[in-house]
Amino acid sequence: MTASVKKRKKAKVLREDCVACGACVNVCPAAAVIIHKGIWADVDHDRCIGCSKCAAICPASAIRMEIS
Ligand code: SF4
Ligand code: SF4
Repeated sequence: MTASVKKRKKAKVLREDCVACGACVNVCPAAAVIIHKGIWADVDHDRCIGCSKCAAICPASAIRMEIS
């Protein structure tokens, strides 16, 4: 029997849609999001726990949850 590795979804920012509002940074419980150079949000996948809060709050629908 092989051990299965659970894959967790991670937040991915669609940079062309991000308006750098910072809402995702404020809502993230894992402090996984930073605003890169004031232009777009960037997610640290090592920190992201896949809670989807950022995707839910983003006013620009710029965050997708994807299997990494
Ligand atoms: S999915 Fe959750 S943990 Fe991951 S970046 Fe978004 S708010 Fe943070
Ligand atoms: S909430 Fe959406 S638009 Fe605002 S900084 Fe995050 S990804 Fe960009």
